[in-house]
Amino acid sequence: MIKETLIEVSGIDFSAGHFVSEGGKCERLHGHNYQVSVRISGEIDSQGMVVDFRVVKEHLRLLCKEWDHRLLLPAHSSQIKISTRGEHTEVKTPEREYSFPTKDVLVLDVIETTAEELAKILATKLGSVLKQEFPNVHQLAVSVAESASQRAIVVIDL
Ligand SMILES: [Zn+2]
Repeated sequence: MIKETLIEVSGIDFSAGHFVSEGGKCERLHGHNYQVSVRISGEIDSQGMVVDFRVVKEHLRLLCKEWDHRLLLPAHSSQIKISTRGEHTEVKTPEREYSFPTKDVLVLDVIETTAEELAKILATKLGSVLKQEFPNVHQLAVSVAESASQRAIVVIDL
């Protein structure tokens, strides 16, 4: 008796800059070569699959491409204040002030640009796409790794 069937897709990556504030202090600006993987559980369909691997990879690649080679900034941080004026985006933290080209910056709808928050965005977006195309899918787990030793995993039910 099969209880559950899972598929896993990995090897999707993007490189981005960020910094996170914590306890009133901000990290220095730095970057990661983020590694993204996803695990999907559901019933095997009439084609013999849960979801076509290629479809999942294609959606994930498109989502990660938006973030690739950008500075990711949080829209709702209590410590990181962002103001965009045309081609320049000014960023203020308690200790530093930066100015970046607006075209190199992405302001995300998050409190901080942690791996957890990035995984949450990817899981939500991928989840809404999969839910429409694959009613046999039950659950989705998206992992965002900042390095080989640290990753965040967000699990959502569909
Ligand atoms: Zn970092």
